[in-house]
Amino acid sequence: MMKKALAASVALLMVAPVFAEELVVYSSRADNLLRPVADAYQKKTGVTIKLVNDKAGPLMEKLKAEGSNSPADVLITVDGGNLWQATQMGLLRPINSPVLNGNIPAHLRDPKNQWYGLSVRARTIFYNTAKVKPAELSTYAALADPKWKGRLCLRTSNNVYNQSLVGTMLANQGQAKTMQTVKGWVGNLAAQPFADDTALLEAIGSGRCDVGIANTYYYGRLMDKKPNLPIGIFFADQQGKGTHVNVSGAGVTKHTKKAAQAQKFIEWLSGSEAQNLFADLNHEYPANPKVNPDAKVAKWGKFKQDVINVSVAGSNQKKAVMLMKQAGYK
Ligand code: FE
Repeated sequence: MMKKALAASVALLMVAPVFAEELVVYSSRADNLLRPVADAYQKKTGVTIKLVNDKAGPLMEKLKAEGSNSPADVLITVDGGNLWQATQMGLLRPINSPVLNGNIPAHLRDPKNQWYGLSVRARTIFYNTAKVKPAELSTYAALADPKWKGRLCLRTSNNVYNQSLVGTMLANQGQAKTMQTVKGWVGNLAAQPFADDTALLEAIGSGRCDVGIANTYYYGRLMDKKPNLPIGIFFADQQGKGTHVNVSGAGVTKHTKKAAQAQKFIEWLSGSEAQNLFADLNHEYPANPKVNPDAKVAKWGKFKQDVINVSVAGSNQKKAVMLMKQAGYK
């Protein structure tokens, strides 16, 4: 009797890990965007993906505080600024993956391979189609021209998205020119900076602002709901460096005990099967250039991306925040 029970429990021990394989993913990406991807992976591989959701800041603090006791195997978050921060906090480990290096372009991943971009969003110019002709638009810097006085709308400077945009502008055009641009923007504002991109786009739609800067997926979401709003999309800086892009991305946590499985999951996310699932639900572009964007997103047109490494958004973040403050950008 005892022997039988022992044999059964030994058998269970041997079998259990196979069935109980689980990866814990800390994610600041909205649950409804990630859940279908996690479910697809589970269906394919039998690996259960446990999602722990929070905003990027608190999530990274939690991971840091937990240290080697953290149950997290993978970190997924949005914006190169946050991903860079995660590397600075020592939360991630380098990944050695020919698959990821083959699927994800160099500018969309950490130069030291600690994280890889999985979806791309452009932060570009939007305009009221009744009041502005696309021929009047060109660059982010040109929105500082007095021509736009009382017509420009921006999101608040405390959000990481414009910090990243200004961070890459600093790298591309230097301190003096960037300061001139940001001061010009502030002088052209039609309204106090907005707390989110959707409110900003709605203000363009209502004619309160003529032009503004926002992420493409907010435009996609809004046009789904209100397709008749007179808002156009314009890809900035096409004659120069290209439109500012950013990513949502993933890395393997420093203290995971399942590094190989965690890497496999991220590799799968970068492949053709998962890329559309990962990007399309949020109206984003697949990071893998071999994968076509969703038809709705493709309809906005092809554009040239600024291929500066997105980690510059992080390494220049402090400087960007200081510059925006000095320029009076709230
Ligand atoms: Fe967002």
